[in-house]
Amino acid sequence: MSELLVLENVVVTYGAVQALKDVSLKLYEGQIVAVLGANGAGKSTMLKSISKIVPLQSGKIYYKGKDLSLVPAHELASLGISHVPEGRRVFSTLTVEENLNLGAYGGRERLSQKEVEAEKQWIFELFPVLLERKNQLAGTLSGGEQQMLALGRGLISKPTLLLLDEPSLGLAPILVKEIFNAIRKIHEERGVSILLVEQNAKKALAEAHYAYILETGKISIEGPSSQLANDDRVKAAYLGGSALEKKFENK
Ligand code: ATP
Repeated sequence: MSELLVLENVVVTYGAVQALKDVSLKLYEGQIVAVLGANGAGKSTMLKSISKIVPLQSGKIYYKGKDLSLVPAHELASLGISHVPEGRRVFSTLTVEENLNLGAYGGRERLSQKEVEAEKQWIFELFPVLLERKNQLAGTLSGGEQQMLALGRGLISKPTLLLLDEPSLGLAPILVKEIFNAIRKIHEERGVSILLVEQNAKKALAEAHYAYILETGKISIEGPSSQLANDDRVKAAYLGGSALEKKFENK
């Protein structure tokens, strides 16, 4: 298995706040790797450091062996890196289909119109509700539908590596299930590698091959997901589940 993404001793600071303190991580080609942690642990910052939204103070990030400090941010999409940020950012005054089309202009100019159409069909199969709403303005979609659209937009450029920031945040349990089913399909049907940042540790561990726990900017625990799911420290801190989650769990 070859290494697709490697973070080596990454440090990121915002003024006086050290958001990532010496973080090292590996994602092998074809894997789903989960990064779990509480609010403010630095999970979003980790994804932003990979997609060059925030600069590294020190450390290195390699993608397919290439030092990303030498790659301009606008070239990341054409290398196959796609970042779906937290908060379902869609263009609210554009339609669903226009939002998807925009994703295709993210840098993979090598995609033909035919390929873009084929990807769109696949995204519509993944999320049939987007097909039903393809001419509807994105701003009128529900939160869950907007999350599906944000994911779809991230997929249309046929990424090799998908950086997913809390895709299930704030969604009702039934939609959380749907989003995680889609994540599984994206991996199984297209072999996309995924770095998945989540607060829903239980769901993320069920899908990921390997996982890291981030605590105030530091990796505190790492290991194969099955091992972490049975780790007493992880169980106590992250797998308790809220009363609401439990109530809906078996529905
Ligand atoms: P959440 O789940 O709440 O999004 P997170 O694990 O993704 O949390 P980050 O958003 O990466 O955490 O934040 C890590 C730390 O860096 C936090 O202490 C946060 O307050 C701080 N931080 C994040 N962005 C900035 C910024 N632009 N300026 C200053 N501090 C920031």
